[in-house]
Amino acid sequence: MPDTGLPFEPDAALLAPLRAVLGADNVITGAARLPLVTDVYRRIETPIAVARPKTVEALAETVRIATEAGVAVIARGGGASYTDGYLATTARSLLVDVSGLDRIVEINETDAYVTVEAGCTWAALKTALDARGLRTPFQGPFSGLLSTVGGAMSQYAISHGSGAHGISAQSVLSMDVVLADGAILSTGSAARGAQPFGRFYGPDLAGLFCGDAGALGIKARITLPLLKIKPAFQALSFAFESFAALHGAMRAAALEGLDDSHFALDAALSQGQVARQDGASKLAIALKVLETSPNLFKGLATLARMGAAGDRALKASAFYCHWLIEGCDDGEAKAKLHRLREIAGGFGAEIPNTVPTVVRGMPFAPFYNVLGPKGERWVPLHGVMSHSKAPAFHEALVKLYAAEAEAMARHGVTHGGMFETVGSSGFLYEIALYWPDTRNDYHPSVVPADYLASLPAYPENLPARAYVHELKGKLIDLYGAFGATHFQLGKAYPYASALSPEPLSAVRALKARLDPKGLMNPGALGL
Ligand SMILES: Cc1cc2nc3c(=O)[nH]c(=O)nc-3n(C[C@H](O)[C@H](O)[C@H](O)COP(=O)(O)OP(=O)(O)OC[C@H]3O[C@@H](n4cnc5c(N)ncnc54)[C@H](O)[C@@H]3O)c2cc1C
Repeated sequence: MPDTGLPFEPDAALLAPLRAVLGADNVITGAARLPLVTDVYRRIETPIAVARPKTVEALAETVRIATEAGVAVIARGGGASYTDGYLATTARSLLVDVSGLDRIVEINETDAYVTVEAGCTWAALKTALDARGLRTPFQGPFSGLLSTVGGAMSQYAISHGSGAHGISAQSVLSMDVVLADGAILSTGSAARGAQPFGRFYGPDLAGLFCGDAGALGIKARITLPLLKIKPAFQALSFAFESFAALHGAMRAAALEGLDDSHFALDAALSQGQVARQDGASKLAIALKVLETSPNLFKGLATLARMGAAGDRALKASAFYCHWLIEGCDDGEAKAKLHRLREIAGGFGAEIPNTVPTVVRGMPFAPFYNVLGPKGERWVPLHGVMSHSKAPAFHEALVKLYAAEAEAMARHGVTHGGMFETVGSSGFLYEIALYWPDTRNDYHPSVVPADYLASLPAYPENLPARAYVHELKGKLIDLYGAFGATHFQLGKAYPYASALSPEPLSAVRALKARLDPKGLMNPGALGL
């Protein structure tokens, strides 16, 4: 433990008062805390304990007790991030597991908002709203079975609903945030004691706490807007023979904002997911094109164009994009589908829409993907860049992989790519790295046991692990060279070190005001 200069007796100063407030069962020490203090990538330090408050008042009291004792306080939502966000950098830490705060506080249909406690998962929220024919604009990341509304606001998340409605933070109306001294700050209309129906009332305080990685406070309650579900659905999938073609189609599609959600994968990540292009599936696509075109003439014209471009692209498909489209009726959904097909048809070839149809049916899959298909270890990285930088970034990445090919082969490291547009102006380029290595404490706590048992296991592989860490560093530098930003900053990506002096001093001043002892998730955002 670092020497803070303070006399410290964990039992007296921290654990006994916490047990008095939370009950002994909700103060977790010993081996039981290890799966919670480890992320899918690693563990840094081991906190003294994990506290699991079940009410907002208990959360506030937990934070107050810890900071008064000079103990760092780190929030954990669903624990699905992989950028050291909730990992302790000092052993003198308390991990606060917010997942016990999982209530849906109010679904207010008249005023069109829903208030949840920060530990509510996206899956639980969707189930409750589906039953009423309602939704939030952003509906959660693919990890929403376990990941929480609070986690997605604290580091930004993208996926379900992002095509039409943007990222997580664009779906916030108001937040109640527990500050380092245990006080609760409300934002937006709630800042004047009104209902939490509106975000924009003076400076955007909700925005201040979005993407803060828990370094400025712990979100306790979050209010999001409600929309009526659009019942009609269409799905579209295309294959592209180059990154340039994929990016061209995604950029053009984003400019028209036609889809509710979309995602793209390279061939490595698509393996096993995309149906083979045999004669039967081509016929199925042709029928689907005719069925969903505005009229037979347009349908036949589309088929003729697809025929010309299709075979060549399909032989060398390296990338796949999947769009999920919604409409208030079939007419709206089909019109959007037709337009998207026109756009993508200029760049690639249509393939069966099995993947987006499956994703529609199961938006929040169990955590199979936190290990590779052969049980390898997995860690993703990402950067968000402007469209003009994306093709050059891809070329530079291909060169970097070529330069690293020998070392990657030696250590058994493989890679994949996943892509989404961020509004019309940004492009998210995610890299997944895989390597053979032993599982850590996190994996058995989230991967379904029968699936885990079916996978090969590997012995500890320290050289490969060290190499992956070094490669991650090079990839992060490459993102930086193209001016990329990052959603999940955690402690893995540069933030403080990358900022110009003026924004940095403003952020530091805010941090000092809200967290004078520097105990809220130390190291997060580089602060
Ligand atoms: C299989 C899988 C699929 C994924 N798919 C996506 C995807 O589609 N899109 C995407 O963007 N990401 C995705 N992710 C990454 C991750 O799941 C998301 O970013 C998710 O939003 C993390 O939420 P969480 O509740 O698990 O947060 P955690 O991992 O628990 O925490 C994340 C950060 O937020 C802080 N934090 C958590 N709760 C609070 C709180 N209440 N107050 C203050 N700070 C808090 C933590 O300290 C940490 O810094 C995926 C991950 C996995 C494993």
